Amino acid sequence: MDMKTKIDFLIDRVRKQNPSADVEKIRLAYECAAAAHEGQKRKNGDPYIIHPVSVAEIIVEMGLDTDSICAGLLHDCMEDTDFQYDQIQEKFGTSVADLVDGVTRLGRLHYSKEQEQMEDLRKMLIAMAKDIRVILIKLADRLHNMRTIQFMKEEKQRSKSLETMEIYAPIAHRLGMQKIKWELEDLSLQRLDPVGYKEIVEGLARQQNENEEMLERIKQTISKKLDDSGIKNSISARVKHIYSIYRKMYAQNKSIDEIYDICAVRVIVESVADCYNVLGYVHDLYKPIPGRFKDYISTPKPNGYRSLHTTVIGRSGVPFEVQIRTEEMHKMAEYGVAAHWKYKQGIDKNSSEETYAWIRQLLESQQDTEAEDFIKAIKVDLFSDEVFVFTPKGDVVNMPAGATPIDFAYGIHSAVGNRMTGCKINGHIAPIDYTLQNGDIVEIITSKETHGPKRDWLKMIKTSEARNKIKQWFKKECREENIEQGREELDRELRSSLLYSHFMEKPEIQENVLKKFGYPSLQELYAAIGYGGITVTKVLNKVKDEVIRARKAESERHPLTTPPQHAKSDSGVIVEDIGNCKVKFARCCTPIPGDDIIGYITRGYGVSVHRKDCVNVKNSSPEDRDRWIKVSWDENHIEVKERFSTALQISTTDRMGVMNEVLQILSNNHINVRDFSGKTLSEGFGIINIVIDVTGLSQLDALTKKLRSIKGIINVVRQST
Ligand code: MN
Repeated sequence: MDMKTKIDFLIDRVRKQNPSADVEKIRLAYECAAAAHEGQKRKNGDPYIIHPVSVAEIIVEMGLDTDSICAGLLHDCMEDTDFQYDQIQEKFGTSVADLVDGVTRLGRLHYSKEQEQMEDLRKMLIAMAKDIRVILIKLADRLHNMRTIQFMKEEKQRSKSLETMEIYAPIAHRLGMQKIKWELEDLSLQRLDPVGYKEIVEGLARQQNENEEMLERIKQTISKKLDDSGIKNSISARVKHIYSIYRKMYAQNKSIDEIYDICAVRVIVESVADCYNVLGYVHDLYKPIPGRFKDYISTPKPNGYRSLHTTVIGRSGVPFEVQIRTEEMHKMAEYGVAAHWKYKQGIDKNSSEETYAWIRQLLESQQDTEAEDFIKAIKVDLFSDEVFVFTPKGDVVNMPAGATPIDFAYGIHSAVGNRMTGCKINGHIAPIDYTLQNGDIVEIITSKETHGPKRDWLKMIKTSEARNKIKQWFKKECREENIEQGREELDRELRSSLLYSHFMEKPEIQENVLKKFGYPSLQELYAAIGYGGITVTKVLNKVKDEVIRARKAESERHPLTTPPQHAKSDSGVIVEDIGNCKVKFARCCTPIPGDDIIGYITRGYGVSVHRKDCVNVKNSSPEDRDRWIKVSWDENHIEVKERFSTALQISTTDRMGVMNEVLQILSNNHINVRDFSGKTLSEGFGIINIVIDVTGLSQLDALTKKLRSIKGIINVVRQST
């Protein structure tokens, strides 16, 4: 078939899958790729363009979107031709250009063959991809390369096959793409153990007639039973893929003729209930082998695979496996993550957010520990909390996102960190607070002459390992400096919280604080703050507790002698007895000016202000009694412009109809909306939750009145959870 026909075929197929697909874009991508690769040949002498077109075909089969198909056609342009990112972006948009760029960058990764590196490499691959489609395109690329691998040098065949077996097949597996995984495994095995592979192929050929006859008989028996029972079904039967037989042979140390369980029958039905019904019929027809029934419908596999499995013994005494699932489960089993695009085609075009929500859901439903690491790795891509970099020798090092070369240096050894004077990223000098990116090669420059780490490094690092090692160094190396630094820091904080005189002038308070943290003297406490052994906040909170306790004891001895202090506050709230301190508004009840309020001295961050009618106030535990303090709105100091967030819950008889009107009223009144969500309850009733910014209670009351007047609204209440 010539290229033109091939691409027409491909476009026809896309049209069938998704009538609204932009096929002209695909044709243009083909023309650009064909022009760019003009004159290039593959190893077997074919024009190069055959490869990208075949990759695009695989992508179409997976059911991916138009952009992925275009990227598949263009995937080798950036590496091998003059058609570069900017031109791709100009002609096909940023999304296609980014996909091609992602695939190109994965291709440049270099693999070391050490076993323990493989898991990290898999993760790194995912992490670098940023977009799951890049991985899927890369899998298609690899699959076609493996299908045509016979034209490569033998050594290359082996190394590519090893890479495929160790990295790409497991990725396909974990993304639930069974079909591609199987093919990749069989193609790799063929190069990695040609003798073993041949043994199985020949063994299967010998048994072929027998197996086919048996499978045909089973198919007919089951399908007759199901037809009689009125269950719509489609049954297929096959011999399992070669690598799975290979693994069984080696695990059980048996030859192909001693392995029985190599046939599988698949029954596809319309509903989950039918799956279980079919299982019952199959167990009526054949004797099940105990312990081999697996219910992946109620407990899906970590990669999202759902099906019922059972192994039964056929009439001739040969066991075979039966898999029972619905059509939807089947598509998921074949195409995994990619099946998502298959379903969504033509429904909704531009909601990558939803796509990620879906994948996230898939990943979060994965439970076993083997998959856990992988989930983390995918999250790197979706939620970016990890980054993978290389040492100059090519070892992969895993760091938290945002880590700097300093973290990297201390990760190697504290001596490397302590002697660090600079760093190179990908061969170029870079600042030591550079944020590491996936795939960076990091080289640390050290010198024996240096005076050790700098204090501000503590603000640049991400890992606790680096933090501990730097603190260790300071603790040992510069006591005087630590004491000075610690004293300064603590004094400053005490003064700004108006606690300085309490702490310095009341020996009892000071003693209790030192005793609580186990420091023999004030000097030691300063030193600890200086090298980072304890945070100032922690000390400050303890001082606060002690001051309150002392004041209470005092007032019990001499009631009513000390009038409450008043001080003004930046937050618009006066905290009596303490004065100006950090104030935050409780999220549970979101108080606004005008509400009756009360304060709670938190263990970490100043005073948290609640509404007096908040459930958390009512349900507060008796131990916390002393922490509740009087607070009040500082009406004189609240600026006119200032806004306070608060949450409302609106109950309605008809959520969909009302939502717009609510938004309309909010916008007419120039109210900033921070959050807006709704859910439908039974029988058309619904709840809308909003978070808005208001000046105070009077504005809120007026607004509430307007909202209540909307037809269909039952009630509007402040939220307090
Ligand atoms: Mn390629």
